[in-house]
Amino acid sequence: NLPIRNWLTALFVSFLFGQTAFAQQHFVDSLLNEMTLEEKIGQMNQYTGFWDATGPAPTDGYGKNKYEHVKQGLVGSMLNVVGAERVRKMQELAVNESRLGIPMIFANDVIHGHKTITPIPLAETASWDLEAIKQSARVAAIEASAMGLNWTFAPMVDISRDARWGRVMEGAGEDTYLGSLVGKARIEGFQGDDLSANNTIAACAKHFAGYGFAESGKDYNTVDVGTSTLYNIILPPFKAAIESDVKTFMNSFNTLNGIPATGNKFLQRDILKGEWAYEGFVVSDWGSASEMVNHGYAKDLKHAAELAAVAGSDMDMESYAYVNHLKELVEEGKVDVKLIDEAARRILLVKYELGLFEDPYKYCDIEREKELLYHADHKAAALDMAKKSIVLLKNENNVLPLDKKQKKIAVIGALADDKQSPLGNWIMGADPNTAVSVLEGLKNYSKHISYAKGAEVLADKNIGFANELVINETDKSGFQEAIDLAKESEVVIMVLGEHANHSGEARSRSKLDLPGVQQELLEEVYKINKNIVLVLTNGRPLAITWADEHIPTIVEAWQLGSQAGNAIADVLFGGYNPSGKLPMTFPRSVGQVPIYYNYYNTGRPTSDAIFWGHYMDESVAPLYPFGYGLSYTSFEYANLKVDASDAAKVKVTASVKNTGEYEGEEVVQLYIRDKVASVVRPVKELKGFEKITLKSGESKVVEFVLTAKELGFYNNQGEFVVEAGEFDVMVGTSSAEGLKTTFELSEVTQ
Ligand code: BGC
Repeated sequence: NLPIRNWLTALFVSFLFGQTAFAQQHFVDSLLNEMTLEEKIGQMNQYTGFWDATGPAPTDGYGKNKYEHVKQGLVGSMLNVVGAERVRKMQELAVNESRLGIPMIFANDVIHGHKTITPIPLAETASWDLEAIKQSARVAAIEASAMGLNWTFAPMVDISRDARWGRVMEGAGEDTYLGSLVGKARIEGFQGDDLSANNTIAACAKHFAGYGFAESGKDYNTVDVGTSTLYNIILPPFKAAIESDVKTFMNSFNTLNGIPATGNKFLQRDILKGEWAYEGFVVSDWGSASEMVNHGYAKDLKHAAELAAVAGSDMDMESYAYVNHLKELVEEGKVDVKLIDEAARRILLVKYELGLFEDPYKYCDIEREKELLYHADHKAAALDMAKKSIVLLKNENNVLPLDKKQKKIAVIGALADDKQSPLGNWIMGADPNTAVSVLEGLKNYSKHISYAKGAEVLADKNIGFANELVINETDKSGFQEAIDLAKESEVVIMVLGEHANHSGEARSRSKLDLPGVQQELLEEVYKINKNIVLVLTNGRPLAITWADEHIPTIVEAWQLGSQAGNAIADVLFGGYNPSGKLPMTFPRSVGQVPIYYNYYNTGRPTSDAIFWGHYMDESVAPLYPFGYGLSYTSFEYANLKVDASDAAKVKVTASVKNTGEYEGEEVVQLYIRDKVASVVRPVKELKGFEKITLKSGESKVVEFVLTAKELGFYNNQGEFVVEAGEFDVMVGTSSAEGLKTTFELSEVTQ
């Protein structure tokens, strides 16, 4: 019996050599020797289970065929099969019924929590708190692994400068430096210290590459970027993911400069597996191999299989391309069998590291599942993360924090009483309507809350994944009640923004306003009572210029997950002093998009700027810049100093003082500009940050060390270079405000 022989060999070798590379290689090589070509190709095939994660396994049609394939050893992985018991049943098919009994890997999109939902990734990024972000991913991994899963399709490390793109909610915003660190923190949280433990899962850096630069923000659209943007903005977070030992990559639906990412040899073979020597495996995105036919790159599915395999796409998610055509392609000499061996090997190695050969059911313990889902510790982590993700955008008259003694607080807006939207999009494992709503959260704090909906956001709430949202554009029947309530209240909390399904995959928008009649509701209420606290809940930057000009107090509360309402209430009533900073620029109008802080100068003199390279009908300044966010206290920056005597370690220090009355956290940010370079550099680039806590009156000196890694850049040949010369440096509270100085970087050695 081959499987038994393999398990025994594995156990013996692991006993002798432990989890060493030698033990892994030995095991996988001996397994590969036993495998037929078809079985190797089977490892490269991934199927979806079925959408109803709690229902019984389908016994006919579509599903049955797949399960027959599992028994034949033709499936290496399944996605969307969730639940300890269901995964066990499915795993039994592979382990007990296939010839070699190779276990499958079970994947799911565990994007921001699993049962306990944490803030959407864009919101988490606003915390700039890498430790909290790592913990949040740990919680997700613990719950997901308790439900039989051992692989998540996260983190999405696509940088995006386009708020219209629906998937900005799933990423870390516009900046490559911050995005790289957030991606790493999330990978370390998912994968933990020991991947073979039953509470850690393999992570996946996606979508390789360029997906966030879809033209016009339309999902799946053409990506056409120059080499400087590719090397300096798009690729670094993926490279950073490898530093955190990310086990898998996912390629992408889009074309990159004319070549679909899934069939892109330059990306997958030359860069990823060549230059970066990546040892994990690459899964295609859902059906992305077959999409190469529509792109006009492959003539049919067989051709798509050939192009994807040759380009280095190791596993085919739901295209049926490999399982149907790879064998024939090898026999015809169109795909070298070595490529199949290599792909299968990469996949088997990850399975080995997950400990699946040791115990294929280690993630399938029903008792553990019961104990861990919705665990109190997870709730606490989700609440902590949610509070830290909130960004205070405006607090003109210090209306916030609210006075608990206030007798008449009005809450207005359909999103205040919504238990689904705070969960946000991409909540594959969550039970709907389980978030603490804003209204519930506020009522936990104060007995003086009265509520009026004002207007629905959606006209039809029954929306599926791919359907268009039906927005309420006409029904204002609730306005009067809201206006009446506002009239008799001391302060009005208006909760406005986007529904959960306004963002996510295939959810791009051409407008960045408050959808439907919400803007009108805001203006009508404002006519009656100007003491408004606007709480925004949304999955992307919004162009809320009117609100900024009129409303004294604005809080960006994103979609904060299960604990949203409690977190928002705690911030509004001063239990937590907001500390978030924007991870994406907020535009004044859609016409400014793409707008980002690290732009390049035009050649026009600055004094001419008003006439050239600018809009006639709009300011060029953003509404709120990248890195911006207020606190209930104030911070003063002083003593910016640079010591560049050691070109390999330039030291930058500044002191920060809490000059207000509250204890608070500040994200101290460092930006540089390489003033003259062989490839022009942006006007500023984030190269360091530190989140510090200061008591009222306290000050701290923050030190940053700039090495070649921060001072250099990729030239148009993809080489990393550091060039001597003058650099501007700024240390401050946002990308738009800080102390500035200049230093000279003496001759550097590469
Ligand atoms: C998305 C991926 C996701 C996959 C599996 C695709 O549509 O682009 O990000 O991981 O589906 O659900």
